[in-house]
Amino acid sequence: VAAMAQTALTPLAEGKTKRLFPLEGEPGNVLVEFKDKATAFNAVKVQEVAGKGALNATISAHLFSFLNACDAERIPTCFVRMTDQPNVLVYRSLRMIPLEVVVRNVAFGSLCKRYPVFQEGQALARPVVEFFWKDNEAGDPLLSEEIIPLMNLLPRGVSVAHLKAFALRVNAYLVDYFQSLGVVCADFKLEFGVDDKGRLVLGDEMSPDNFRLRDAQTGEVLDKDVFRLDLGDIAQAYGKLLSRIQERTQHVISKPVGERRVYEAAIWVGLRPNVLHPESRTIFEALHTFGFQEVTSLRAARLFTLQVQAAHVAEAEQVLEKIAADVLSNPVIERYEIRTLEPVLA
Ligand code: 5GP
Repeated sequence: VAAMAQTALTPLAEGKTKRLFPLEGEPGNVLVEFKDKATAFNAVKVQEVAGKGALNATISAHLFSFLNACDAERIPTCFVRMTDQPNVLVYRSLRMIPLEVVVRNVAFGSLCKRYPVFQEGQALARPVVEFFWKDNEAGDPLLSEEIIPLMNLLPRGVSVAHLKAFALRVNAYLVDYFQSLGVVCADFKLEFGVDDKGRLVLGDEMSPDNFRLRDAQTGEVLDKDVFRLDLGDIAQAYGKLLSRIQERTQHVISKPVGERRVYEAAIWVGLRPNVLHPESRTIFEALHTFGFQEVTSLRAARLFTLQVQAAHVAEAEQVLEKIAADVLSNPVIERYEIRTLEPVLA
């Protein structure tokens, strides 16, 4: 890695704040260098900020590691490891999807501009997911969920519903995580990619550049709004956030974070493949009786929507897993999936 900075390696890709380099001996991975640069308003406002690359890389490493530790199965991320350079991380290489997936818990920024019924700082009754097309020329426009599948932006096997459920699950964990640091996670932007097996993976970065984070007591701004709105020293604000993260890293995952919360979830239960199902057969035959000869196969499944109380999202997941495995499904013949999980905020 140290050699990287010295030799004039050609980047595989370069964005406003990061450069990607090949990693010798690890063909599935890449080196990601975070630049000492702050940009806003589509790079109309740009500033060199000493130390920012290292801060963003380190904060990203912490947040990705936190998510990996929570639920590596359902929240796969690109993060592999840190390196001996504080502004360089190792990522799995992904084929990126040109979407910005924004999750909001509190109204700010473009939401308030678009929909002035929301005041800046107003808590939203439930988390909102928005999709933007990552296309500079088009000006990163907001996309409706219906238009996305028609734009050929999604890799095979990835749906809007899949992206949304993934983003909301990340949000459920992050709301708890930041709350335990005394920080409100108002909103953030995610980007996704697919790995060589076609699996959806969280990519990009998890730094205050992509978040709105506010001190829960004082409202102090700990994110890129410091730079956007000229509120002070951006490296100092990010440094403050990193100190809080480092203080709490050991304790966060299993520790209750205050009041119990209500989580809303959907659990899907269906038959394992190859299990015969008389009810499905009956419905299938009925469809043919009613003249729907077009139907060539049919499997019935069940969907449960429920609300559970828990101290934090990991506890909610545990309870839901137990309910799904022990009560709602028959493990001999059925499979289940916790399809969605999100905190009810108000
Ligand atoms: P807004 O849509 O209000 O401008 O942004 C919502 C959230 O997504 C904020 O946390 C903001 O930092 C993040 N976000 C939206 N667009 C971008 C972008 O193009 N780049 C980065 N780094 N973050 C973005």
